[in-house]
Amino acid sequence: MHNKLVNFVQELYQTKEFIPLHAPTFGGNEKEYVNNTLDSTFVSSVGKYVDQFEQQIEAYTGTAKAIATVNGTAALHTALYMAGVKSGDLVITQALTFVATCNALYHMGAEPVFVDVSKVSLGLCPKALECYLEDNAFINNDGLSQHKVTQQVFRAAVPMHTFGHPVEIDELVVVCAKWNIALVEDAAESLGSFYKGQHTGTFGSFSAVSFNGNKVITTGGGGMVLCKSYDEGMHTKHVTTTAKVPHPYEFFHDEPGFNYRLPNLNAALGCAQMEVLPTFLKQKRALALQYKNLFQNSDFEFVEEPEYAKSNYWLNAIICPDVVSRENFIKETNANGVMTRPIWKLMHRLPMFQNALKGSLENSEFIEARVINIPSSPTQIGKNNA
Ligand SMILES: *Cc1c(COP(=O)(O)O)cnc(C)c1O
Repeated sequence: MHNKLVNFVQELYQTKEFIPLHAPTFGGNEKEYVNNTLDSTFVSSVGKYVDQFEQQIEAYTGTAKAIATVNGTAALHTALYMAGVKSGDLVITQALTFVATCNALYHMGAEPVFVDVSKVSLGLCPKALECYLEDNAFINNDGLSQHKVTQQVFRAAVPMHTFGHPVEIDELVVVCAKWNIALVEDAAESLGSFYKGQHTGTFGSFSAVSFNGNKVITTGGGGMVLCKSYDEGMHTKHVTTTAKVPHPYEFFHDEPGFNYRLPNLNAALGCAQMEVLPTFLKQKRALALQYKNLFQNSDFEFVEEPEYAKSNYWLNAIICPDVVSRENFIKETNANGVMTRPIWKLMHRLPMFQNALKGSLENSEFIEARVINIPSSPTQIGKNNA
């Protein structure tokens, strides 16, 4: 199968050069908008592109308020702060995620609790979450969920839409409401992914999107906090911009703030990329279908979107029959200039999270041992396709 993949992607991208997992494409108005910021000198914290980019994201996702940040991790950090996570709290998330999810909660002074993922979505499993809470939590006199042994408060749950495939969010909403736990979505990978027609990142009270260079669209570095409530959104903006009270010349800050605002220079790139997003998504869906056909009747299973969802197919993935075939596949494809890689090491294997509380991680371990990502860049973008 590895030769078949190498031939297929070399043909697809029309090159024998190294083919990365996901490369950015700039075939639209990127240069024009970025040049506008240079010409205007408004490259930094003031300028029209930040507002415009936030409005584009609001219109596209249907969120009440979107707040641009310097990167996705900063967006997640802000989202957790806004959701009320405090030092000593427990935050439930997946062991199967990129480390940024855990770094963000760590820097709020919280501790991760790892709960298993669903084999349907590769994201946080509602049943596993419910079971974990049944076994380990009780609701205290203030209506908050507390750990039976450590007495810590379960403040938030952070499902992550792995590779852009939406989690079973309806069920997670129900479990979180029942246990009075804030829902914060790590939607870093899922711009353009919808759950039953509703955009991911609009279910939780706060969510985070990333525009890192390898994501569906990029601003160089950048992120966005999606806020379910308009008022909370305005407060989020305040907090990400040093909590300065507006005044023509005086400095007054009414609470601890972050300096997480996305520069206008980066936002300009984002505005142009948003214009091309629908084209990217169409091409990525077409590629996913081709991969599905390529791996049909092989030992490798192509990871498809869950039936309730429309995925952005950010990173395509296959499930290998076992660890040995996975190692061989990765070695052979990379040796032939086609980048493939294993999924992240589970978070509880990293030194800083090895003592974290956790439930059974059976599915996470199964997936960790077998999943490979394969090249997923949009295929042919030119100004005319945009
Ligand atoms: C990319 C990513 C982030 C962080 O985004 P940055 O913009 O790189 O800080 C967070 N969580 C997940 C799951 C990601 O894939």
